[in-house]
Amino acid sequence: MSEFDYDLFVIGGGSGGVRAARVAAATGAKVALAEYNRMGGTCVIRGCVPKKLMVFASSYREGFSDARAYGWDVKDGEFHWDVFRDHLNTELDRLEQVYRNLLDGSGVEVFDSRAVLKDAHNVQFANGVTKSAKHILVATGGHPVKPDMPNAHLGIVSDDIFNLPELPRSLLIVGGGYIACEFACIMAGLGVKVTQFYRGAQILRGFDDEARGLIAEMMREQGIELHTGTNIVEMKPADAQNPEDAVPTQSDAAMGADVKQMQALNTDVKGAGEGPIWVKSTNGREGVFDYVLFATGRSPNTTDMGLEEIGVEIGRRGEVVVDAYSQTAVPSVYAIGDVTNRVNLTPVAIREGMAFVETVFKGNPTPVDHDLIPSAIFTQPEYGTIGMTEEDAREQEEIEVYCTSFRPMQTAFAGKPGRVLMKLVVSKANRKILGCHIVAPNAGEMIQLAGIAVKMGATKEDFDRTVAVHPTMSEEIVTMRDPIRTA
Ligand code: NDP
Repeated sequence: MSEFDYDLFVIGGGSGGVRAARVAAATGAKVALAEYNRMGGTCVIRGCVPKKLMVFASSYREGFSDARAYGWDVKDGEFHWDVFRDHLNTELDRLEQVYRNLLDGSGVEVFDSRAVLKDAHNVQFANGVTKSAKHILVATGGHPVKPDMPNAHLGIVSDDIFNLPELPRSLLIVGGGYIACEFACIMAGLGVKVTQFYRGAQILRGFDDEARGLIAEMMREQGIELHTGTNIVEMKPADAQNPEDAVPTQSDAAMGADVKQMQALNTDVKGAGEGPIWVKSTNGREGVFDYVLFATGRSPNTTDMGLEEIGVEIGRRGEVVVDAYSQTAVPSVYAIGDVTNRVNLTPVAIREGMAFVETVFKGNPTPVDHDLIPSAIFTQPEYGTIGMTEEDAREQEEIEVYCTSFRPMQTAFAGKPGRVLMKLVVSKANRKILGCHIVAPNAGEMIQLAGIAVKMGATKEDFDRTVAVHPTMSEEIVTMRDPIRTA
């Protein structure tokens, strides 16, 4: 008989926590999991899954005009946000139940409660009840953060997007990362007038320059008003703004705002999403937007968890500090996923959970492999990437760059200006592919497969030896013969 209630207590029912709990239970361990919000976590409930469904929803607009070019007699349809949102919620309910069933079926005991750490082996629920466990796994994820500025509470965050009461007519997105760019494309596709402010010189900092440039160009082509080098200096409810100051100016019109109309609608502005918002930007422009979405980063959920009190080290960005085996400074406490702020992606959290179980419950110490992780940004077109950017690679060693950009057959036929990009960054010394970058429709699907080759250490010559699949966009990745530059 164990001295503990459980062998493993998992705090957090997101992708990482649920997988770790199930796999640990499959080893015969007695496992419990606490989740105070909806089962499935950020990815399933307010992240990747609903976001991707919104990507699908938003892509039909282009489809109507493409279909006409291909001879179909179709009219532009009208998008009904309430129909989509209700269907989305039904689907998320179903998925949440799937997660619960998986835990039930694995014999994991579930507590629908917030849980915090009392000491190295005890967790406490909101009702004061405590449970003991030999190992505790913190998998509490992260949350979106708003900038520290007056009236930031008027803005919404990505969590709020999926339950908007109505589709905004105008939306200002602040930020230039994954979430900002994905939602800019989604909302523009759904017919929303989208303005995006990014404080830096080019969106998607840290990604390959050529890819970022093309995505920015395609986003502008889509009608998104992307302002780089721009941030909010002031924001307030539109009705709090002096009406005389708020009469539309040329710059308001350029930002897509109809100030008078917004003010007429505006009666009782209190909080996020409760009325139009007047915004002044660093470039001196003023405008009014139905909503302001802050996509300005995420923070680990470590506040008031009892972590520091029991000796778990918390890093500068609020993350749980762990070693290569996801172990914290307290030997019985481990942490995985976004709460550790390593690589904040669902499949990585799942890997970290599996490596934790391998290490702790299967006696096979397994460090997490964070090298060469393929990922995709679901802009339109998508960006699939693995490995180094050209800019990072050229700092490291001598490289050759193979790159092509062209109008794909399907949309060129429909008279669309869209271009795609295929790029390989190759080591001159050993010919290995250091980085692969694809900006194209379905680039997420493409990079998953190209990623296998790159992870295996494929060389440029391995790509060259592979016969093209014709006619496809991705065949270009194996037919680029000459480098466009060396560095
Ligand atoms: P990111 O950290 O990627 O981007 C945050 C953006 O906000 C940056 O452009 C940043 O600018 C800007 N920013 C930060 N603070 C301020 C401020 N005070 N004022 C103005 N701008 C500001 O965060 P996201 O929220 O987009 O995404 C969080 C994480 O979620 C990602 O890192 C990713 O791991 C994950 N994710 C993955 C997706 C996928 O795989 N497809 C999709 C969505 C999210 P600057 O560049 O100057 O710092």
